[in-house]
Amino acid sequence: MAEGKFDLLLKGGRVIDPANKINGLCDVGIANGKIAKVEADIAAEEADHVVDVSDLIVTPGLIDIHIHAYFTRASGEGLFSSSLNPDAHFPHSGVTTCVDTGTAGCEEIAHFRQTVMEQAKTRVLAYVNISAPGMGAPEQDIRTFDVDGAAKAALEHSEVVVGIKTAHYWTSAPFDDMHPPWESVEKAVEAGDGCGMPVMVDFWPRPERPYPALILEKLRPGDIHTHVYARQFPVVDDNGNVQPYMFEARQRGIWFDLGHGAASFWYRNGARAIANGFAPDSISTDLHMGNIAGTVFSMQDTMSKCLAMGMTLEDVIYRSTATPARAIGRPELGTLSVGAEADIAVLALETGNFSFQDCGYTRIDTDQRLICRLTIRNGQIIFDRDARTVPHWEDAPPEYWPVTETPVRVPRLWRA
Ligand SMILES: [Zn+2]
Repeated sequence: MAEGKFDLLLKGGRVIDPANKINGLCDVGIANGKIAKVEADIAAEEADHVVDVSDLIVTPGLIDIHIHAYFTRASGEGLFSSSLNPDAHFPHSGVTTCVDTGTAGCEEIAHFRQTVMEQAKTRVLAYVNISAPGMGAPEQDIRTFDVDGAAKAALEHSEVVVGIKTAHYWTSAPFDDMHPPWESVEKAVEAGDGCGMPVMVDFWPRPERPYPALILEKLRPGDIHTHVYARQFPVVDDNGNVQPYMFEARQRGIWFDLGHGAASFWYRNGARAIANGFAPDSISTDLHMGNIAGTVFSMQDTMSKCLAMGMTLEDVIYRSTATPARAIGRPELGTLSVGAEADIAVLALETGNFSFQDCGYTRIDTDQRLICRLTIRNGQIIFDRDARTVPHWEDAPPEYWPVTETPVRVPRLWRA
């Protein structure tokens, strides 16, 4: 990079950066992997490489706080695990930070870090499962819950661990005689106290453990309930009104995460809740191999569903960037503040006739959808759907490689 120049300039886009209350035409200059300038009309001459994004929306890199991207040793490391390779999927949808929710327990987190987090271009963070083997073993079995182990692993790996997870503590069988109703939640919260981090809870209410007790009594401020619009949660009453305890829980600092998943998102709950003032704090996919081919598909599909349910574009982006960053205690992420790591999603808002399916076998119809066009992670272009960052082949010099004195800069695709 020449002295004082930007490496990359995104020119002419509509910047939506809710953390900084920016929504308007702005150019974004990137230097040394960081956001260097966000201003209207930055001169093209100030940058080594300019990308025209004039018909597009420029947002902070999206943050998906509920996904599965670890191949546990306990479940075998084969291709047909339910986890997915983060770099194969998240750059396509503008997700630059994802959080694996409890695929690994304390016995697996070091291996997860080594085999996935340290290798991936996508920033991969994690919640540690309260069950020591993680999702590779039945999470129904209270004998696997390890409070000290989970808290210790979280602290030992605090650069990449953002909390504790409990999940899939749903039915009694085959552990009928050892299924205390609150065991998994209480143990997770105890571990959360031990490491000073939030817990994320996937829950199944039963008469002996009602949902309001979870969010009003058991969880602490800062803790997160994921899958909030799943069928099993009485979020709205029979008339479609949001239950007062939802607002009360939000008031006391409980976070509500969408966590779409293969079976955990119903328009019949979500659309009614959103229409009555109860949007999710964070939009997330729970993406894994069991739902990537439908009905989740991607973060941008989940965001498009939120738009279709009546949330504004700015709000959808807010709850996919700034609020998930806060929920995981990483407020430096999810913004385009000068000095922040240059993680950016460039999105198109397409118009047409579109329909999106939920997990309750229903659909919603809409006239717009979000599609990712360009993803930048740590200042590097890692996804360029429309080949915007390279010249037309007829304009390219014969020796088109950065070792020559070419005037054109080759984007550093996938280079660490
Ligand atoms: Zn999940």
